[in-house]
Amino acid sequence: MFLTVTTTGTPERPATDLGFLLHKHPDNAQAFSTSFGTAHVFYPEAEKQRCTAALLLEVDAVALVRRGKGKGRGGAPDAALAQYVNDRPYAASSLFAVALGKVFSSAMRGVCKARPERAAEPLPLRVEIPALPARGGPDLVRRLFEPLGWAVDVEAVPLDTEFPEWGDSRYVRLALESETLTLSNALRHLYVLLPVLDDAKHYWVSPDEVDKLMRAGGAWLYHHPEMRLITHRYLSRRWSLTREAMDRLELVRLAETDDSEVEEIDNAVEAEAEQEARPTPLAVHRREAILTALREHGAARVLDLGCGEGHLVRELLKEPRFTEIVGVDVSVRALTIASRRLKLDRMGERQAARVRLFQGSLGYTDKRLKGYDAAVLSEVIEHLDLPRLPALEYAVFGAARPGTVVVTTPNAEYNVRWESLPAGHVRHRDHRFEWTREEFRAWAEAVAERHGYGVEFRPVGDDDPEVGPPTQLALFTLTTTATSTEKEAKAA
Ligand code: SAH
Repeated sequence: MFLTVTTTGTPERPATDLGFLLHKHPDNAQAFSTSFGTAHVFYPEAEKQRCTAALLLEVDAVALVRRGKGKGRGGAPDAALAQYVNDRPYAASSLFAVALGKVFSSAMRGVCKARPERAAEPLPLRVEIPALPARGGPDLVRRLFEPLGWAVDVEAVPLDTEFPEWGDSRYVRLALESETLTLSNALRHLYVLLPVLDDAKHYWVSPDEVDKLMRAGGAWLYHHPEMRLITHRYLSRRWSLTREAMDRLELVRLAETDDSEVEEIDNAVEAEAEQEARPTPLAVHRREAILTALREHGAARVLDLGCGEGHLVRELLKEPRFTEIVGVDVSVRALTIASRRLKLDRMGERQAARVRLFQGSLGYTDKRLKGYDAAVLSEVIEHLDLPRLPALEYAVFGAARPGTVVVTTPNAEYNVRWESLPAGHVRHRDHRFEWTREEFRAWAEAVAERHGYGVEFRPVGDDDPEVGPPTQLALFTLTTTATSTEKEAKAA
């Protein structure tokens, strides 16, 4: 397999700086041995105006089999010949990516002692790969590279040029160009996306693959429209690893958006405060409505799911009737702030024994959430993408099954009453949806029906005769101990 990287230059910024950036001198041809063959680096051209580095990987098919690494996805491990005669030596993208990561590891990390300033700045780049296995074809190649700032020139390689009627092979010829990326970015894109396109890892995918993916992709993957496909394929379609990676990427996103979000939350608080007629902020009404519901149901052991910075946890701590309080959030940063606000480290022993915070994602069932009297989801569901909501539903109502569940969410109808909110906007940038009263009711009633709960609805805040209250609350109470699926199983 073969790849070239070309850059152009000026007398002040010679293209031959590429040699410094890659840590490989343009005058030498170098060879590096890897466990599966030899990687060669050489420069077909090295002028001030234009410089090209080439990476050629010679895979040793025999070594590959001896090391037990020849069993790619779709390959038949027992077919003795197929172990030796396959396309891996010519088109092994995943091996190639490993070689790329090994031979250009400093460049990938963006480290360059000789030219630090150049390592950090974008440069004109052209990457060519004459034969790249691409499951998904030219269309997927474009979908993967274009959002990252590459101009993509890709065409399918025909199976046989003499017989065009045989159609295309699964290989493409690829040329990428960009003026906006650093070399480190470019290499990271290739390191992740070449194996994704090949879709056949040559080695067993272990959990530390997630670390590798985070190191190479953490900074750009979250914003990629094909994040899910990339993550899933990179991790050889193993769901448990994909989930872990998606959760970690979610944390990266939260960490990135934090500051602007804090600002927006401040704005939202201001918007709420602007409502002169309302002496108490809506958030206070919300917490009071939640506490009332919990008291009515005699809940003592309470989960605050999506607890954020711990405002409700603090209120719960004030009342001795709540003997065990657990705050759960996906955001480590929110939990850190919560723990600081609650002064968890300075709390007396008895108080501290009542409260716990831990990180978890509500998209997955979690044994730690079982056996509580009540769970609160205060302004949380609207932060999940709608397709992820059934997973939360199952995790809370199907698996954790607390006796009481309190769910609050904005009432979208009320938005016309917020003076500072432009028409048709949600209240917070991170809200994936906001529901009308009817939409919320329909969801909540279906959830209750599916999981053996009864449900009642309560307004929170000023209940406008036309558009209803700003916040809507659903109070679920467990009526049967068996889930509908369990009941069906019993009935059958
Ligand atoms: N309950 C708090 C915070 C609401 S903001 C309150 O009423 O003020 C929504 C919170 O849900 C955020 O802290 C966010 O990190 C958390 N969250 C979003 N998606 C989540 C998920 N999948 N699992 C756990 N928490 C999540």
